[in-house]
Amino acid sequence: MIYLPKRIWYQYCTMVGADHLPTTKPARKLVKAQDTSRRTIKPNQKVTGLFPNQAVSVLTASILMTAVVGGIRQSQGLQWLGLLAYDQMIRLMPPKTADPRLLVVSIDEKDLQQQQKWPISDQVIAQLLEKLQAQRPKVIGLDIYRDLPQPPGSEALRQQLQAENVIVIAKGGNDQDSEVPPPPSVPGDRVGFSDLLVDQDNITRRNLLYVQVGESSKPTFSFALRLALKYLNHLPFQVTESALRIGDTQFPRLKADSGSYQLKDSGALGWQILIKYHSPRSVARIVTLREVLAGQVEADWIKDKVILIGYTAPSVKDVFATPYSAQETQNYLMPGVVIHAQMVSQILSSVLEQQPQMRYLPQWLEWILLWSGCLLGGWMTWSFHRPRYLLMVAVIALGGLWFIGFLSFTQSLWLPILPIMLGFIATATLISGQKAYYNLYHDSLTNLPNRRYFLKYLRQNSPREESKVSQLIAVLFLDLDRFKMVNEGLSNQAGDSLLINCAERLQLLLQDKMKLARVGGDEFAICVLGVENIQQVEYLVSQIQRQFQQAFTWDNQKIFTTASIGIAYQRTGKNFEANELLRAAHIAMYRAKDLGKDRHETFVETMKVQVQARWQMEMELRKALEQQEFELYYQPIIALKTGKIAGFEALIRWPSSVRGFISPAEFIPIAEETGLIIPLGAWVLKEACQQITQWHQEFPTQPPLTISVNLSGRQFSDPDLVMQIQKILEEIQVQRHSLKLEITETMMMDNVEDAIALLEKLKELGLKFSIDDFGTGYSNLSHLHRFPVDTLKIDQSFVRQMYGHQDSDKYKQIVKTVVMLGHNLGLDVVAEGVETEDQRQGLKDLGCEYAQGYLFCKPFSKETITELMLKNPGW
Ligand code: C2E
Ligand code: CA
Ligand code: CA
Repeated sequence: MIYLPKRIWYQYCTMVGADHLPTTKPARKLVKAQDTSRRTIKPNQKVTGLFPNQAVSVLTASILMTAVVGGIRQSQGLQWLGLLAYDQMIRLMPPKTADPRLLVVSIDEKDLQQQQKWPISDQVIAQLLEKLQAQRPKVIGLDIYRDLPQPPGSEALRQQLQAENVIVIAKGGNDQDSEVPPPPSVPGDRVGFSDLLVDQDNITRRNLLYVQVGESSKPTFSFALRLALKYLNHLPFQVTESALRIGDTQFPRLKADSGSYQLKDSGALGWQILIKYHSPRSVARIVTLREVLAGQVEADWIKDKVILIGYTAPSVKDVFATPYSAQETQNYLMPGVVIHAQMVSQILSSVLEQQPQMRYLPQWLEWILLWSGCLLGGWMTWSFHRPRYLLMVAVIALGGLWFIGFLSFTQSLWLPILPIMLGFIATATLISGQKAYYNLYHDSLTNLPNRRYFLKYLRQNSPREESKVSQLIAVLFLDLDRFKMVNEGLSNQAGDSLLINCAERLQLLLQDKMKLARVGGDEFAICVLGVENIQQVEYLVSQIQRQFQQAFTWDNQKIFTTASIGIAYQRTGKNFEANELLRAAHIAMYRAKDLGKDRHETFVETMKVQVQARWQMEMELRKALEQQEFELYYQPIIALKTGKIAGFEALIRWPSSVRGFISPAEFIPIAEETGLIIPLGAWVLKEACQQITQWHQEFPTQPPLTISVNLSGRQFSDPDLVMQIQKILEEIQVQRHSLKLEITETMMMDNVEDAIALLEKLKELGLKFSIDDFGTGYSNLSHLHRFPVDTLKIDQSFVRQMYGHQDSDKYKQIVKTVVMLGHNLGLDVVAEGVETEDQRQGLKDLGCEYAQGYLFCKPFSKETITELMLKNPGW
């Protein structure tokens, strides 16, 4: 026996790699059959099959997806996603504290109610300015349109607007209607235009700082820039091709393709920068108009500050959506004056505190990053095979990318993180698809083509057109004979290793025009195209069988297995059927198995008929079982000393409604093969127990009549056997020592130790055992004494030939020996198939205790036997 130590797990894992990783090696070069027999096979070698080159796949997919994602990005398709990411990151930034250099004077809803006039009169504005100027602010920005006089107080306001530190707002526009000019009395260098740009999704993210349409035309400054410059008036201001400079500070220009933007030409007009929002609601201290007018504002809040005056009352509708809007309930909007304040604060902190502006990568670098994301996604998908792991790793990778993007955002560097993530996902998906397609046609354990591929290959190589020259194709169907034993007896890992090794050995034998596939659990198929003569195929078969004669190694132990091979041929042409050819080879393989395994058989038409008949029988058996068509017959077993009935053997009968009477020798093997024997056997046992219990009551004898029930091999190896028998015994109160189970030598010799253990368990239930057909099976006499059995049944083939035969003396000697053997082991002996008086006398003389046969009585139904028993027969 081969013994399997624990460390096999580890070895197995190293041997097959993580989940049978497909390798990148190119398909093995085909080797001529002649020089393979001496090759040694290492257990940790792998079959490479047809696996496509991993690097090439990943590279191609990543380039393709870079082009696709990049292309979509270029055509504005991803702008919204990028902007969404930008908004998300802004929201994730912790809000900053209010800028102490600024004060916002808000005109809110309550102020408007107090004024009871719309627009607010010039007088009120003039009063406001006067109050503020009294505290000596550095700059005052009036974010209120005053192009038309709103009396009373127009003259007072005009006076106030003359102050050098007052900046007013104007609205530029594409047409005359939307334009709002500044108050006529204010000179151009104290006018700033409204500078808020709105993106396609209506969100304000950009600020237009400065515009100069042509070389000669006058440049215009934004409201925020004017305010900031006034505040910083000692610093030089300069505009170059690429940036705007205040003192030493540069404001790089947002270009049409900077960051996530893909702006149309006019959208990228002038010098724009992204607004780095300070906080969701406010950037500076806010006081109201009425508070200022009432003198409730501290002087310190105003002195040397930038004061912005504007409406915050929702009814004025001077409000904008910001990146925070999406997050807030009930569309939170930010008043224009607050956004201007954000912008002023941003310029001031840039110049005075060197806080960086948002920077962007050059386009070529963005493309390379995108490609890297695609490569990463593709590589991961190839490398991780379990979907769960892959998903986990992908989520981690995507999370990591996002984190890197956010980290660089906090450092004012904008990375195109969403297109990269999208490229990652797209390439991963593409490679997954490619893998799924590969797996559709390949077996993951051996990497060999699977049945589907094999059939496709057969079809592709067998042109049906009549114009093509027809050729002979052979298919070899190969099934391992002892695979189940290795798998169950050793471990699944040993089984897997065996399959991989078999695949390797077979692969080594292949020549051009041959294709190997794994078409089932332990089944392989080889197709040979363009067969020139049958000998060629027979030679291949002999080579295969030779390969299998060498032991396989598993964890330094030798495993021997053989193969049953079926061969089928078909000519190409319009009647060629790939399915049929494979099926024919399969049928031939079954025949090879039936004929004793480790051999090959070539398909002939009659095999098909037999297979069909078998299949038909199986169907009928199932139906018979459902409809309870079976019957139990009983054959008396006679005590030779007294000539009286000592017990019976229960024998199943199938009076089929379709075929008439069918011999158990015909249907029992099929019931075994299909597993139907399990329910059938249970029925027999139950029925026999019931019957013998009844006879015990009707015909009490001493010792009580015995009942022998045949057990099949399949039942014997059924792990539920003990439980099943126990259940029946509980249900029917049978005298247990009168129940005998008949088993054969072969059933026990398959696995001696297990068989002994099983018999002992059943013995504990009080049952007895006979060895049926003794002398015909493969039996190891050295084990016989260890089996806890009670009876030997001499097979009828020996009894039949005891008399009237040329070798009768020999047979008599055999029977004598068996009887003696039985007695020496303390068993009693039953002779089967006793048909003549000579046989009866001879057996009696040899001391054989019991006999069974047509001489006494044939098997009969329970009714007939009951009638017979009433007559108290004797022989
Ligand atoms: P077996 O266990 O060796 O059963 C004895 C067979 O010999 C029976 O054939 C019986 O009818 C036949 N026989 C008895 N006396 C004579 C005789 O004097 N001359 C000749 N020529 N034959 C005799 P049967 O009933 O056709 O059963 C055939 C086999 O089918 C059985 O062989 C047994 O292996 C199997 N079998 C029958 N019933 C059952 C069952 O309920 N379960 C299982 N698992 N197998 C069964
Ligand atoms: Ca029997
Ligand atoms: Ca028998």
